[in-house]
Amino acid sequence: MIKKHLLLFVFVSFFCPAFAQKIQSPQEFLGYKLGEHFTPHYRIAEYFRYVASVSKNVKLQQFGTTNEGRPLLAMFIASDENIGRLEEIRHNNLKLAGIESGGGSTAMPVVTWLSYNVHGNEPASSEASMWTLFDMVDPANAATKAWLKNMVVVIDPCLNPDGRDRYVNFYNSVVGAAPDPSPTSREHVEPWPGGRVNHFYFDLNRDWAWQQQKETQARVGLYNQWLPQVHVDYHEQGYNAPYYFAPAAEPYHKDITQWQRQFQITIGKNNAKYFDQNGWMYFTKYEFDLLYPSYGDTYPLYNGSIGMTYEQGGISAGLAVVTRSGDTLTLVQRVAHHHSTSLSTLEIAALNTQKLLDEYKKFFDNSRANPPGDYKTYVIKNDNNNKINALAKMLGRNGIQYGFGLANKTVTGFNYVTQKTEQYNVGANDLVVNAYQPKAVLLHVLLEPKTFIPDSNTYDITAWSLPYAYGLKAYGLKESFKPASTEWSVAAPKPLVNTHAYAYVSAWQSVNDVKFLAALLKKKIKVRYAEKPFEAGGRQFTAGSLIVTRAGNDLADFDQVVTQTAASLNQEITPISTGFVDKGSDIGSDAVRYIHQPKIALIAGDGINSEAMGEVWHLFEAQIGYPATLIRYQDLSRTKLGEFDVVICPDGRYEDFPSEKLQNWIRDGGKLIAVDNAVSLLVDKKGFLIKHKEEKKEDKDKEKDKDKTVKLYGDRDRLALSESIPGAIYKLNLDNTHPLGFGLPDYYYSLKLNDDIYDLFSGDDGWNVGTIKKDGYVSGFVGAESKKKINNGLLLGVQPMGRGSVVYMVDDPLFRSFWENGKLLFSNAVFMVGQ
Ligand SMILES: [Zn+2]
Repeated sequence: MIKKHLLLFVFVSFFCPAFAQKIQSPQEFLGYKLGEHFTPHYRIAEYFRYVASVSKNVKLQQFGTTNEGRPLLAMFIASDENIGRLEEIRHNNLKLAGIESGGGSTAMPVVTWLSYNVHGNEPASSEASMWTLFDMVDPANAATKAWLKNMVVVIDPCLNPDGRDRYVNFYNSVVGAAPDPSPTSREHVEPWPGGRVNHFYFDLNRDWAWQQQKETQARVGLYNQWLPQVHVDYHEQGYNAPYYFAPAAEPYHKDITQWQRQFQITIGKNNAKYFDQNGWMYFTKYEFDLLYPSYGDTYPLYNGSIGMTYEQGGISAGLAVVTRSGDTLTLVQRVAHHHSTSLSTLEIAALNTQKLLDEYKKFFDNSRANPPGDYKTYVIKNDNNNKINALAKMLGRNGIQYGFGLANKTVTGFNYVTQKTEQYNVGANDLVVNAYQPKAVLLHVLLEPKTFIPDSNTYDITAWSLPYAYGLKAYGLKESFKPASTEWSVAAPKPLVNTHAYAYVSAWQSVNDVKFLAALLKKKIKVRYAEKPFEAGGRQFTAGSLIVTRAGNDLADFDQVVTQTAASLNQEITPISTGFVDKGSDIGSDAVRYIHQPKIALIAGDGINSEAMGEVWHLFEAQIGYPATLIRYQDLSRTKLGEFDVVICPDGRYEDFPSEKLQNWIRDGGKLIAVDNAVSLLVDKKGFLIKHKEEKKEDKDKEKDKDKTVKLYGDRDRLALSESIPGAIYKLNLDNTHPLGFGLPDYYYSLKLNDDIYDLFSGDDGWNVGTIKKDGYVSGFVGAESKKKINNGLLLGVQPMGRGSVVYMVDDPLFRSFWENGKLLFSNAVFMVGQ
């Protein structure tokens, strides 16, 4: 009997592959219908792994891990014919783009990539990802099988697993046996910081181009190895809104092609067909524009793809919530909508594979033969190897080709700093980027000095030009020049061995220099800084340069510790053999000051802008490697503040600010660094000198007159624009003799995120370190009223108070961590000011 059964089993499994291929649906696998519960990330990963183990049409790739150790996954789905040649298809894409040589063929499969759940508390899409996957691999599904004939599908089930689990764990821990749809019930109110952001509270849908976060680096790394033809980024918005899909709203960046616009409409109409059939509400062409380059729709668009954002109404909705119109919105519905647009997008892509590939090829042919923009070559002056290195790395991560130096040294180009056309002698180690390359569009978007913006409402910052962000001098050239070399001739600094120096000197101009200081301080090495420029050992050093003297560092292996720390960070240091300097103040003089190792408290918790706080946290922990203690503002009253030297208050809404305790601590020698709204909360507070700039009387009168003019209700969005500044670049005059300005030139490009501006300090009361004069505007959209306001005032100030000080930073210098030059400015506030 036993034998007979065994025989039957062998027979069935051998002759009926359909039986062997029976694949469990998400419902069968999870034990509940999708949308009935929130699925934790590990269970989603288990379902993907399960499908990978039973379907012959998929390949699962773990391409990274999150900060909290969760896997980042991409599932590649293809037909029987294509699954074995994924590498060939991938290389073909890169050949079509011209990134690899060999031409490439348009008679190959299209690649469509679906990215789910980038914002952790927009969780419906990860649930839908399992359903989409099942439909694509279900052997009984003839429709999807047909689509796979000419298409490879990539599913990333969750771009932000840490954020998703933060939300899902919260929700699952507070929901009762049945969900409570009442909007005020606590299951619809997420605690701080919420699940939207990743571990370091970064918005991963603002990080595609900058790649400051681990998750983005891994994902965009993989993305650039594939460069798909279609990409969808799945989101949720407020739960009262209906579904949003392409075509996107204006403004579009002008480099987005007619074809890309056109196909957004084609896809949108296909989505609409299914929504119409089901009677579901939706909208298009509103709110979600295509400008800022670090989104999951624009980044793909600037890389030759049809990039789109889809938004289901659903943030904070839990399993069920009553909406404004009195309907109950459920997770089951939200999942169904995302599933519908997933399939509809795959369907329409599959029906247009030839056109998609032809146009994709055309996009890159055009990029290489006829790059957009006025400038065909960009030259970025190498004033500092570390800074050039940081920029080169960033370009490299985006697949932008660059080199160094030019054969003909004298060129004429647009000077980003003076905004004039000038002659320039190109140095051998200047960074040179030729526009004729596959990534010409992305290059242009990231480097053009002024973003072209039609006068319409936009969702995000409108200026990001990299030379300003990195604080590097740059020239835009109308002629095309190829760099002289793909390698730069700057040798890595030679590690010093067997030195016996009086002191070691390091520059203070880049994040790497800050890292070096942090590493020394952590090793309890005493470090000083030069208050004024000086010359020693045949070299010139600017104010702020770090000096590590043998004096005071009584270690047997002093030279080794300093030189090895430098070598481990690739940091160049100069040994000097005497304290008697060639020019300037001697090492033992008053002008060389001791850097007290600061103990830092960073304020977090309810009311604090979590992203702003996360930028500081990430700077200390992941970028420069220096300890900071995170304290909730409400716990400050029971904190021994005397243990800290620096308190950092990021942007936020603080209650009872500054507390008396905090003020006393400052007077006793503490240093408060206030950023953004924390600055405005100090206005009119006793002892704090910061004051809103008084508007001139005639301006006020005009304002009053204007208020009396009759406005049209229908114009209200447009009128609001005149007082808006979504994010623009301003040039500040910087007092770089003040420690807050060390290592920077006498100007600083600031990303202005609001129209706040303050009165200059008078007399000896405070230091006006960063000020704006009449023509500070550089780039980006600024409403007419705001433009008038941002003039003649203070944006960076330092006020001595008792034995302590207050640093005022009106605009967040660490915004999204991509404003590289802001990191030095912020480090000045932390390590240099008040020492
Ligand atoms: Zn979102």
